Amino acid sequence: MYRMMTPGPTMVRENVRLARSMEAMNPDIDSRFYEEYRRICQKISRMLYTENESFLLCGEGILGLEAACASLTQPGDRVLVLDNGIFGRGFQDFVTLYGGRPVLYTVDDKEPIQVEGLKRFLERDHDFTYATLVHCDTPSGILNDVEAICPLLKQYGILTVVDSVSAMFGHSLHVDKGQIDIVCGGSQKALSAPIGLTLVTISQNAFRAMEERNVPIASFYANLLAVKDYYQNQWFPYSMPASDIHGLGIALDNIIGEKGRLSRDVLARHENLARAVRQTLVKAGLSLYLLKGYSNTVTAVRVPEGMKDKEILNTMKEKYGIMIAGSFDYLAGKVIRIGHMGENANVEDLADTLWALTETFRELGHPLSCNMKEEFLKACNPI
Ligand SMILES: *Cc1c(COP(=O)(O)O)cnc(C)c1O
Repeated sequence: MYRMMTPGPTMVRENVRLARSMEAMNPDIDSRFYEEYRRICQKISRMLYTENESFLLCGEGILGLEAACASLTQPGDRVLVLDNGIFGRGFQDFVTLYGGRPVLYTVDDKEPIQVEGLKRFLERDHDFTYATLVHCDTPSGILNDVEAICPLLKQYGILTVVDSVSAMFGHSLHVDKGQIDIVCGGSQKALSAPIGLTLVTISQNAFRAMEERNVPIASFYANLLAVKDYYQNQWFPYSMPASDIHGLGIALDNIIGEKGRLSRDVLARHENLARAVRQTLVKAGLSLYLLKGYSNTVTAVRVPEGMKDKEILNTMKEKYGIMIAGSFDYLAGKVIRIGHMGENANVEDLADTLWALTETFRELGHPLSCNMKEEFLKACNPI
């Protein structure tokens, strides 16, 4: 087996794997399933500091993004797509697919989106049904301050859709404070459950916009209205993956702290380890892709001149049994990425990863200026 030190999917704890092997049930007609589903969704909302209702859909993270766009876009709608990364820009494809007209607001991908700049843009143009933005854009690791950006959009009556798939539970997210209408998360990132479920948290305003549409939502699977009243109706539009959902409930319990909020220890661990990873890489003479706005969950580092990302990744995998990631789209070949979210965010696995990376660079003829394992252990505050 490989150790997956990738920015999702992440490693899965044994208690989650075991929970998924419970006896099978029929979720369509077993009322215990509806109770469990609701309990888990209520926990998610509480961890996200919101009164809004949360839902789990059968499909990995992308389903949530598509479902938000499918459910909110009416043909001809102008939709503001905030773009400082590959997932950010990617929203335009979903908007277009459902007949909307995406308007891109593109800024430097090495820094977070600045509220001031967006404010100036919105003063001139604010006729948008909704806006999309990404909390952590994983291919570069850039972190956007969604709690500051979304309230600005709401001032203009623009609904907000946030992809927090790779930030959720590795960062705190106050959905109500941020006035975020739809938030998407995924099972396989910082939550560290297996791939297969998408988390969506939906405001009353967003549901109202869906109900007041002139034309029906052009999708069955990605129709968020179809799940809205599941509990009253004791009905889902399709059979829910009960074992996956049961496992996700246990993964959630693994990271819940006081008062049902995201555990402070989990959050501190993410912050501390991410900082230590960055310090170590820089000390070793490597350069980070971003200038600022680093996430707690993933670090992208430039592939040095004369090296190939594939060689680094393959050596790490074949010789040391550790998977780290390259990137894609315009970042393909330019950066390699270490995922330090969820179960991956622990000192031992990260120390091993950085040791193996030090060895790999040496073997590929690019010795680093320090032993990254030692540096990393020094840089970690006691946890
Ligand atoms: C992982 C991720 C998704 C979901 O996509 P996958 O196909 O599971 O990789 C969506 N958005 C972001 C920002 C992600 O990191």
